[in-house]
Amino acid sequence: MKMATPMYSSWCEISCTQIEANLKIALGLLPDKTKFCAVVKADAYGHGIANVMPIIQRNNVRYVGITSNAEAQTVRDTGYKGDLLRLRATTRDEAEAALPLQVQEQVGSLEGALELASVRRTNSAPANYHLSLNAGGMSRDGLELSSPKGKEVCKRIVDLLGPHIIGVSTHFPSNLPEDLETSIARFHKDVDWVVANTSLQRENLLVHAGSTLTLVSPCNPHSDMMRCGAVLYGIVKSELGFKTTMTLKARVISLGEFPAGSTIGYDRATVLNEDKRLATVSLGYANGYLRRFAGLSSVLIQGRKQPVLGKISMNTIVVDVTDLTGVALGEEVVLFGRQQSAEITTQMAEASSGTIMADLYTDWGQRNPRVVKHTQDVPKKETLLI
Ligand SMILES: *Cc1c(COP(=O)(O)O)cnc(C)c1O
Repeated sequence: MKMATPMYSSWCEISCTQIEANLKIALGLLPDKTKFCAVVKADAYGHGIANVMPIIQRNNVRYVGITSNAEAQTVRDTGYKGDLLRLRATTRDEAEAALPLQVQEQVGSLEGALELASVRRTNSAPANYHLSLNAGGMSRDGLELSSPKGKEVCKRIVDLLGPHIIGVSTHFPSNLPEDLETSIARFHKDVDWVVANTSLQRENLLVHAGSTLTLVSPCNPHSDMMRCGAVLYGIVKSELGFKTTMTLKARVISLGEFPAGSTIGYDRATVLNEDKRLATVSLGYANGYLRRFAGLSSVLIQGRKQPVLGKISMNTIVVDVTDLTGVALGEEVVLFGRQQSAEITTQMAEASSGTIMADLYTDWGQRNPRVVKHTQDVPKKETLLI
């Protein structure tokens, strides 16, 4: 018997089964002796940290990456006791608040090291730190070691925090093979310099670099650990078996016949050149169905791809259903993902949005209620985490 689905206007179905399948493929691609850090920032790329953590835990992944303290708290609330790493620099107050959560902090500047050195501890154990190196890369929050000043700063950071530095990391700005090989070589050169010129010892350090695009590239970063997020959600390399993990859905809430010459939506942006049957669907830009989709996107109804017409309203869109028979009010519409044998793919969504899938996932997952699906399970309601 079919169970009633919760009556949301629009919602994201999260496939935990597929996230786990993607994780297993990713773990199989890791170079020998390389650890995996599962990155769950932005509420697990919109999928919900609490949904993803049990999968990470039962696959014995012992390193997790977050950015905010709220994310760290959510990870610990799931019962996770392994290593937890903040994937960016921090301030004293943020680091102090994170002490009870045992968040490892990254440091890549003298100012940052001074902040960490001045964290007030009451009953919590001191945090562990990772030295973050720019390695000619992102010029974000990693230390650029090429200048004499950078080398001096590095020595001072180690003087300030040395005993608690357990890792050295970088983040590559490009994963095109030639660029990546250069970055990898530069990173290892910088790590060698650190080990030769400070009290840090290579055997006590976790050297980590490489993300999803590095993992699926032909290059080996020769690191002790790679930090990957996007790979869990099937955004890349479908030829390796990765599949998308989120389906964005809404419903048909009105059907009408409109004669040739009718204009559709705000600014009369679309004019019908023939009589049409149009369906109004219960989601709009307030649900992350971007205004820039106008004129470029299609949706799935009855397993068929139908064009969206006119501008995107705040809470509704209009779809041409002239070619379909028997469309009913309340019927499910898929805005992203699969319906029967049809699919709105990552490539289609990226082309019509002009942005990357990670941007869309995080937006959709945080702006819509999520319905979690495990194969064989009935969908279950989840509270919306913002
Ligand atoms: C986001 C992030 C990652 C993971 O990137 P993906 O491309 O999603 O695998 C790794 N390291 C850092 C520092 C990050 O900010």
